[in-house]
Amino acid sequence: MTQAINEIRAQFPALNQDVNGKPLVYLDNGATTQKPQSVIDALSDYYRLNNSNVHRGAHTLSDRATQHFEDARKTLQAFLNAKKAEEVVWTRGTTESINLVAATWGRQNIQAGDEILVTGMEHHSNIVPWQMLCQQTGATLRPIPVKDTGELDMEAFASMLSDKVKFVSVVHVSNALGTINPVEDIIKMAHEVGAKVLVDGAQAVSHWNVDVQALDADFYAFSGHKLFGPTGIGVLYGKEELLNAMPPYQGGGEMIEHCSFDGTTYNVLPYKFEAGTPNIAGAIGLAAAVNYLNGLDRVVLEQHENALLVRANELADQIGGIRKVGTAPKKASVFSFLLDGAHPADVGTLLDQQGIAVRTGHHCAMPVMNQFKIPGTVRASFSFYNTMDDVERLFAGLEKAKMFLL
Ligand code: PMP
Repeated sequence: MTQAINEIRAQFPALNQDVNGKPLVYLDNGATTQKPQSVIDALSDYYRLNNSNVHRGAHTLSDRATQHFEDARKTLQAFLNAKKAEEVVWTRGTTESINLVAATWGRQNIQAGDEILVTGMEHHSNIVPWQMLCQQTGATLRPIPVKDTGELDMEAFASMLSDKVKFVSVVHVSNALGTINPVEDIIKMAHEVGAKVLVDGAQAVSHWNVDVQALDADFYAFSGHKLFGPTGIGVLYGKEELLNAMPPYQGGGEMIEHCSFDGTTYNVLPYKFEAGTPNIAGAIGLAAAVNYLNGLDRVVLEQHENALLVRANELADQIGGIRKVGTAPKKASVFSFLLDGAHPADVGTLLDQQGIAVRTGHHCAMPVMNQFKIPGTVRASFSFYNTMDDVERLFAGLEKAKMFLL
């Protein structure tokens, strides 16, 4: 395994550098992942050789750019096991994907008296768009309670379901706690009362291959930059019949079929939702990331990530003074914690001085932090390119931080 991981690490230039005089230990993969050389090359090749606007092609470069851009969509379709490429809408990321659904499906289908359910562990990007929709429509947003372990209270969820519930929007993997939510069950239960479901997959797709048809998700959202691809590109998957029935999101070029002052008709899927010049390089770069992942054994790599998490838990118990936040039995490789008596930001600064990158703070999930009555946590989020040595360095770093802080 060590050799395989070292070979993988050699593909990620940013991992192979010193930071503050120490070899970098990058444990902030929940915020964004590093990029393999093939993604960097795809971006550079696009700008060096094929840079042109898409779908406007009166010339060879434009045809090439369009081909690569649409091939990228097919790569993402296969990655998600979507039925059709038209069901893959390019967005700027998870945030825009969720806003798109709230603004279009939401405004068309939600009325005063309706209920929208999210979980108590959502990222702000899966709370605020629904709050805005509720303010506009008079609907009510209700959070599904979270237990002290960081698991969803599924009994409470069952009791909240009724024919008033029109939409359920849930995070697949919590960025703050690492909890893997039982989205298959949630989707089935929500469908039984006629509600549609969006899954925020921002933190899931980097750990395993998601199959949107097997899940029967109505919508699935994620960001390219958390999947080893570029920033500024993401995906909204939606079932074709739902996307077809939805009004457009933004107006502009690309999204029209015919435009006149007497009225405008809209383009077919997915272009109806892609107003303006898209992030062409981003889409191509994201497809390069997916192609890179397709060459790896993701099942074995997920086991490796789990082993890193197990080791982190062992070392935390050994050094003591660590409060774990999020102890659900089903977790992705996210280790969120507090060092007793120390502010998370101070811990983060002391780790950074030792070349160890973690995230500290509320992780854009203030409601769940409030529930645990903490201002935030220190979060080490592992990816497959992290090593056991990285985990050891984290805890050696924490021992040092303790000497300074306590
Ligand atoms: N949802 C979750 C669970 C996340 O972790 C994040 C990013 N931290 C987002 C949504 C938002 O993603 P983005 O900022 O890339 O749109």
